[in-house]
Amino acid sequence: MADDGSSGAATETTGQDAASHGGDDQDGRPDPPKVSRAEVSNYDIVCHYFDAAAERLGIPDDLRAVLNSSYREVRVQIPVRLSDGKIHVFSGYRVQHNGARGPYKGGIRYHPEVSLDEVRALASLMTWKTAIAGIPFGGAKGGVDCAVPDLERSEVEEITRSFMDKIEKVLGPTRDIPAPDVSTNAQVMAWMMDEYGKLHGHTPAIVTGKPIPLEGSFGREAATGRGLVYLYREAASTVGLSPPSTRFVVQGYGNVGSWAARIMQQLGATLVGASDHMGAIRNDSGIDAEALARHVEEGGVVPEFEAAERISPDDLLAIECDVFIPAALGGMIHADNADQLSCKMIIEGANSPTTPKADEILDDKGIYVIPDVMANAGGVVVSYFEWVQNLQHFRWDEREVNDKLGTVMRRAYRETVSRKEEGLPLRVAAYQLGIERVLEAARMRGYV
Ligand code: NAD
Repeated sequence: MADDGSSGAATETTGQDAASHGGDDQDGRPDPPKVSRAEVSNYDIVCHYFDAAAERLGIPDDLRAVLNSSYREVRVQIPVRLSDGKIHVFSGYRVQHNGARGPYKGGIRYHPEVSLDEVRALASLMTWKTAIAGIPFGGAKGGVDCAVPDLERSEVEEITRSFMDKIEKVLGPTRDIPAPDVSTNAQVMAWMMDEYGKLHGHTPAIVTGKPIPLEGSFGREAATGRGLVYLYREAASTVGLSPPSTRFVVQGYGNVGSWAARIMQQLGATLVGASDHMGAIRNDSGIDAEALARHVEEGGVVPEFEAAERISPDDLLAIECDVFIPAALGGMIHADNADQLSCKMIIEGANSPTTPKADEILDDKGIYVIPDVMANAGGVVVSYFEWVQNLQHFRWDEREVNDKLGTVMRRAYRETVSRKEEGLPLRVAAYQLGIERVLEAARMRGYV
């Protein structure tokens, strides 16, 4: 695909976000503000970058078709009677993209926008991500098209258990190991592990991102945000930054965004803008990242945080800063808003936050982009550590986990940078590295 539609992709135009958790919530809060999102799909975005890298590697079309398509795609029906007394039918998906390098690995997303197309894209991204990070996994992703803020806890549990019952046949600690993603967390992983255990006996290595008392790993919850910060530290000098003078903005203040913000703040950097699905805030004198995280953990939404000015979500992008961290959904930096960004570096916490057209604009503006496929690998890297600990029924302390994470993230960054030729985007160099490693494994196994 390309923005020019060369693979049948939709032309990149923007639309209003119809799916930011939608509706008046139970607290009587107003509807979320409309946020412009690219209408080019996540799948088109991933295919575009895959094609660009495969082209440079000279991979023939038949081999590209093997590498770019999924090994297995499962869709299941999840009928659940909700508190309104009616049966609602949700769709659940698990896509296993490529397993040449090891068991399939990837998160489970709960969001009304979840579709086969999106899960397929995210699964493909996981294949390249695990390969770039050099951990022995393939790529997968899953999801259910439900809106968690509109559901009761017991309803989320019922959906989760039903989903696990229906996909367990394709999972297993040496086959496919899910983890959390948007709107899923350690509690959801605990329910998944418990449900799997009813059929197979206690199997902690079936999911990662579990609660600490259930053999979760120390450091997993903060891992994706921490990984972003490791890469910021690696790359800061390239664009003349140092932590005490760095001002940064975070789009999406959930797991990834809030942990990245807290760890950046610990280094001495200053958070000057943040957002969530309900709106955005700014304060040029600094926003306390810890206090904002506590506010969100206690059920608050970002625009209601005191000691900051409420702004429109679109204005968040225009805040003058050094580092912008997208940590919400895909397609949020697109052809119609990329020009507004006023930063030196973007570290992509979200998956596919930047469309190909936006990437070109950012390149013209001289913004250094550390791409999702490398930047947000911290979560899956510590998931790998959790899996290793589970297989041994052994536990590492948090310092050990964080140190090992730093080693892997720095190695991935340096290996990618070392093969980046003048003018080549870091993203394409990263995809090239990932594709080469998957192809090498597939050839050794005799798949291709
Ligand atoms: P999360 O559910 O904890 O947080 C998502 C955040 O995005 C929330 O604050 C939500 O309010 C906000 N959001 C949703 N729609 C928005 C909008 N229109 N505008 C602004 N904010 C909006 O999810 P997460 O786990 O932090 O994941 C965030 C992103 O990071 C996703 O793209 C996910 O795929 C990616 N990611 C997550 C992990 C992980 O370990 N959790 C790992 C790699 C990548």
